[in-house]
Amino acid sequence: MTTSAPTPQQLRDWDNEHVWHPFTPMQAFRQEQAPIIARGEGFDLIDVEGNRYLDGVSSLWCNVHGHCVPEIDAAIRQQLDCIAHTTMLGLSSPPAIELAKRLVDVTPAGLTKVFYSDSGSTSVEAALKIAYQYHQQKPSPEPQRKTFATLSGAYHGDTIGSVSVGSIDLFHRLYGDLLFPTATIPSPVGLWHPAEHSRESYLEECYAKLEQLFVEQGDRLAAFVIEPLVQGAAGILVHPEGYLRRVRELTKQYGVLLIADEVAVGFGRTGTLFACEQENVQPDLMCVAKGISGGYLPLAATLATDEIFNAFLGAPSECRTFFHGHTYTGNPLACAAALASLDLFQKNNVLANVHSNAKAIAEELSRLTSHPHVAEVRQRGMMVGIELVQSRDPLTPFPSELRLGHQVIIEARKRGVIIRPLGDVIVLMPAPAMPEEQVRRLCRETIAAIETVCRNVDVVSQPH
Ligand SMILES: *Cc1c(COP(=O)(O)O)cnc(C)c1O
Repeated sequence: MTTSAPTPQQLRDWDNEHVWHPFTPMQAFRQEQAPIIARGEGFDLIDVEGNRYLDGVSSLWCNVHGHCVPEIDAAIRQQLDCIAHTTMLGLSSPPAIELAKRLVDVTPAGLTKVFYSDSGSTSVEAALKIAYQYHQQKPSPEPQRKTFATLSGAYHGDTIGSVSVGSIDLFHRLYGDLLFPTATIPSPVGLWHPAEHSRESYLEECYAKLEQLFVEQGDRLAAFVIEPLVQGAAGILVHPEGYLRRVRELTKQYGVLLIADEVAVGFGRTGTLFACEQENVQPDLMCVAKGISGGYLPLAATLATDEIFNAFLGAPSECRTFFHGHTYTGNPLACAAALASLDLFQKNNVLANVHSNAKAIAEELSRLTSHPHVAEVRQRGMMVGIELVQSRDPLTPFPSELRLGHQVIIEARKRGVIIRPLGDVIVLMPAPAMPEEQVRRLCRETIAAIETVCRNVDVVSQPH
């Protein structure tokens, strides 16, 4: 029996019938006729009907060099001819070994050990358990160090441990009873500051709360978990210069581990290969995922210092082992893709491209700074958040049932651009290697989409 390939309509019907999409209100989604992506070409996505879209969010923040990149494709094919998967539990593989060495070479000094997993969430989950166990097993144990410090609006993944150290109300509130308690201090960003503060005085308050956290709880903290420089999922919140540095100083002073979650910011997005570099910070544990494989295959790593690793050594009977590991950990195909991606960073001078693109983005989006419905354009490197509001003064959000951010991305889609909002924050996160011309087109179509949608809203809400 031969079966013919399903038609686009069949695919759409089956998608609606059987597929439960992540972070997606399914009832609305089914009405939407979302593109079904069949192919990629460079920085374009092509759907089953042949429509072409610019990939404006790097296929959710992970693509680096584009799609169907000959060098990465070849590296995966070559590995495929050797073996697709073999376990890291008690065995090893050449690509996983080579990649560990390369990661140690390119990440901040002091990180010398690589623990693989397969997603950002699992890389954070591993970091939390390692930190917790470390304090119990280190030369002078401090088992009372059990609390994790986090920032408001933090996002570290969707598994229960990583949700526990997250604090995005909309995603996390529902699971409150399942989560372990944390010490959460306000994120140092000022747009929605409390009424009794100015933007500046609120930032000072955030710094004061940071110091206070260590004075009051410094001896009970296991680790401080932070997205360095930019909190992605909270709406591309950009921290003030020096904040990360201050967190590093305090964690060091109080014997608290610093876990840098570079899952989103890592691999070039902020202008350096890793965001920690910009404040000369060496974390104790670092989580990488999303961009690690060039955005090709699920792969993640938790990097650790010798000091942490050594606390897990001892005779097997002492049970100091890190009892944790996922089946597809360190998958050789994914590691081969990651090695090829690191080669391309050098060969194509991707970081220089990020710098010139960041300038182009700032130039294009400067048109929005006076737009009556744009509260703020936030940018760090090639990570951009455009926050839309009903009014700038007084600062008033759009009613959430308008789904304004969603309206904008649907309008952008009609203009051949795929983006995805976080509430009413329009996120642009083109791949670090995207050519400037396409980056400019992304900005212009996004502005056009924002202007169209806002004009419609203004017409509807005009008094009669
Ligand atoms: C996306 C993200 C994660 C989770 O990664 P997954 O691969 O989706 O599990 C963790 N931390 C940060 C900062 C992220 O942006």
